[in-house]
Parts: sequence; structure tokens; C-alpha cells
Amino acid sequence: MNYHLVLTRRCNLNCFYCHGGEEIGPDTEIQYSMNDLATFLKKDKDVQLMLYGGEPTLRVPLIVELMDHFPKERFMLQTNGLHLDKIREAYIKRFHSILVSIDGTEETTDGYRSKGVYKKVIKNVKWLRKLGYKGNIVARMAVSEQTDIYKDVRHLIDLENPSFDHVHWQLNVIWDAEDNWQDFDRWTNEIYNPGITQLVEEWVGNMKSGTVEGIVPFMPLMYSLITGETSKLRCGSGLDTFAIHVDGKIGVCPISPDWEFSIVGNIWDSNPQQLKDSMSVVEPCPSCDDYGLCGGRCLFANRQRLWGDEGFNKVCQVSQHLFDSLRKHVEEVREIIAEGIISIDALNYPKYNNGCEIVP
Ligand code: SF4
Ligand code: SF4
Repeated sequence: MNYHLVLTRRCNLNCFYCHGGEEIGPDTEIQYSMNDLATFLKKDKDVQLMLYGGEPTLRVPLIVELMDHFPKERFMLQTNGLHLDKIREAYIKRFHSILVSIDGTEETTDGYRSKGVYKKVIKNVKWLRKLGYKGNIVARMAVSEQTDIYKDVRHLIDLENPSFDHVHWQLNVIWDAEDNWQDFDRWTNEIYNPGITQLVEEWVGNMKSGTVEGIVPFMPLMYSLITGETSKLRCGSGLDTFAIHVDGKIGVCPISPDWEFSIVGNIWDSNPQQLKDSMSVVEPCPSCDDYGLCGGRCLFANRQRLWGDEGFNKVCQVSQHLFDSLRKHVEEVREIIAEGIISIDALNYPKYNNGCEIVP
């Protein structure tokens, strides 16, 4: 199974949409031993460790200790990128995928995350490329009201030095709406939805010359539309993906250590087999016409509904716009595949769950 391992709850940034900021206090650090963790993980035959925080690169010695202790396990990293260059080459090259937070252009990124962040992240990704890192580098955007989705995604996809293999984004629609949005409806109608339409059109257009741009939400959704494959929840939370929090408790999702409903066990008493499929999305998702494609988007939002039912429905409409934009091009993409210009496998992403939730 996949485990988000929260290495610390502390972070060296205080981004607009996170509201977490720098947590301080005795409860922010890991409170179990490496042996406790190993005893739990030994009960699982297929382990993937996704290092998460807070900001995991604030704990580089712990990353080294983990990689030495678990030499065969697959590792993923989700980081704000500011301390990436503090990880030694032999260790950073062990990550299968590295998701680096960057929100688009310098103006958008620094606007949300603090002045100077964009340049530092770009410098560290250049360093990673120069090392000859062969894994998957994903630009992971948080998308909120200052984002021009078309402009910001295109900026990251078109970057050449350094290049990102993939671009993924999450909408800032988890935490309560009042502090986060002035006018969500206007933004979705005037900026986000038209931007998605345009990005999809260009993405399909570029396929005709054999290029599949690494726009994460589009790839697996188009793959599912063509193959008929369905999903019960694309991020896997509560099914085959869990979070090990700093206190050793196991939750369905890394963002919700403080929500009682999301805690399903702990590393001392739980067995991975009992955890598997322990929580899934509830109505309205299973009865939704788009469920097989959408997968219910986000277990946390499905269960917690911090935006209420009305807000939940608004986010569904945004997802449905994305699905419809892709549906319009299914036959065209089928033809491109039939002509041998691209292969269906080029859309089959990710090979392993790497923390990209797929439906923004
Ligand atoms: S579109 Fe909304 S209701 Fe339908 S499956 Fe997705 S999250 Fe659930
Ligand atoms: S999509 Fe939702 S449930 Fe899944 S990992 Fe992200 S916040 Fe958690």
C-alpha cells in the first residue's frame, strides 16, 4: 500500500491557501521509533513511502535514516522545493517522483507563497536536472483566485530550463470558502472554465503531432474515457493509500490529522490488510453519473463538506466542466491513437500513485 509519511508538521512557508503556517510545539515531530514503523510496514508486502509534511525537507537526516532503513521500498517526495538541494545526490536520486510546489508564473507563485520562492524553486529544480535525476519531476500547483489557469499551466508546461515532466494542480476548495474566495462563481465562469477548455483544445491539438503534454488531470481522465476504466477514488485515500501521522496514528488522508473521522488505526495495533478499503466516498458520489470517471474527487471533501452541500455542488460543476471538455475530444484522440501517432499508454499516468490526486 501507499503511505504518506508525515515527517514533521512544521513548514518554512506560510502560504495564503494553507492556513497552517508554521506549527510549533512538541506535537509537530515524529513520536514513534524507526523500529515501530518497520514492525508495522513488515506486515505489508508492497510498500510505497510518500514523504510529506509540513515540509519534509526540514528533516533531511530523517529522510536519510528512512532510506537506509528501507532500502527496497519505493519513495516519493512532496516538497516546497526550498531545501531540495540539501539532500545528497545518492538519496535524492532514490525518489521515484518528486512533486515540487510551484503555482505558475513568478507573479502567481510569489503572490501566494512569498517573494523569492519562485526563483529559489526554479534554481533547485535546475540543480536536480543537472544532477541527472531520472525520476519524475512534477510541478504541483495550488490554484486559487489569483490564478489564471491557462497562463499558469502553460507557463509551467512550456518551461525548458528547467523543464517539468508533468504539471498537476489542486483547487483551493478544501478549507472554508469565506477566508479563501471573494467571488468563486465569477472566477470559475470567467477564468477557470474557459482556461480549461482552451488547455484541453491545445493539448489535443498538440497530440496530432505526436506530443502528449504532461498535464496530469487530462491524461488519466482521457485514458479512462477511452478505455472505460473506472475509479472508486483516484487519490486512493482510505482504499490503498493512508497517512502515518507524527503521533503514529494512521489516517485516510495526510491533510486531516485533526479530524477524528479520518483516523482509522495506528502503527502499533493496525494491520495493513484491515486498513485496506476501510473508508470510501458516500452519497452523492456513488449515485452520480460521473462517479466512475471522477471517483468522487476527494474523500476528505466528500466526508467533511467544509463548503456545505451548496459549495460541494459548485465544485462538482467545475469538475464536470473538465470532464465534458475532455469528452468532446474522445473520438479525435481515438483516431490519433488508431493512426499510430500516439499510443494509449502515453495517457496511462501515473504508473504508481505519486500523490497527484488527478481530479483537481
Ligand atoms: S462530480 Fe461530484 S458528485 Fe459526482 S462523483 Fe465527482 S465529486 Fe462526486
Ligand atoms: S484528494 Fe482529498 S482525500 Fe485525497 S489525498 Fe487529497 S485531500 Fe486527501
